[in-house]
Amino acid sequence: MPELVTLALEVGFSHAAPLNAAALRALPEVRDMCASGRCQRYDRSWSCPPACGTLAETEAAMRRYTGGVLVQTTAQLADDFDVETMERAQKLHKEHFFTLARQARLLYPDCLPLTAGSCTICRTCTYPDKPCRFPQKMLSSMEAYGLLVSEVCQNSGLPYYYGPGTLTYSACILTKEG
Ligand code: SF4
Repeated sequence: MPELVTLALEVGFSHAAPLNAAALRALPEVRDMCASGRCQRYDRSWSCPPACGTLAETEAAMRRYTGGVLVQTTAQLADDFDVETMERAQKLHKEHFFTLARQARLLYPDCLPLTAGSCTICRTCTYPDKPCRFPQKMLSSMEAYGLLVSEVCQNSGLPYYYGPGTLTYSACILTKEG
């Protein structure tokens, strides 16, 4: 998927590579991590489990795709407590991915973007009282779909870890081309 790789690098991601869609697996242990409440978003957003679908449903949704792009934002931290850089990198990653997902949806209307972290399009998610405000823009995470990010990176030829003092956020877009 060279077109999306080029777009991703133009948008500002540190790294981008064609996604090995055939190797994607929805893993129960990743879903268990969501359910453990580690990120506090389980059962609090339409984009997260259980609302985003059962593991069988997310696996089936991913099986419809044959290609795509994996993107990363890598930050260099001053030390282990450099929270400012961590937060800035996360914000940048989300902004860049929102831009890339919008462009990808124009090029490939039935693509499936999977971001890092819960959907943050609205200040407060309508879940569970009202329907999602923007179902066409909503972004689920790789983890919500059961993906182990380190495995996806390895299978797509990008490192998950770029060495001491670095922090990397990943996201991907699945397409039926490639
Ligand atoms: S678009 Fe808004 S309502 Fe829909 S999942 Fe995202 S935050 Fe929630």
